Amino acid sequence: MKKIAELLEERHKINKKIEDIQNKCPHFNFSVRSVQERLDSSSTIIMYVCDRCLKHIGYPSKKDIKNYLKQ
Ligand SMILES: [Zn+2]
Repeated sequence: MKKIAELLEERHKINKKIEDIQNKCPHFNFSVRSVQERLDSSSTIIMYVCDRCLKHIGYPSKKDIKNYLKQ
């Protein structure tokens, strides 16, 4: 079993890589999606999510939320 410190270090590196990709992404295409509110949370919220890098861009308009819930 790996030491917790090593795992945390790995997680930090992975998070950094994801952050780099998301920072470079122009977020041209995004969709309304239901996503986890936080990594350690089981509750979900509806957000605009980039199709390419999966970054949460922002909160959808009431109209978009309504359309999403109709699907
Ligand atoms: Zn993006």
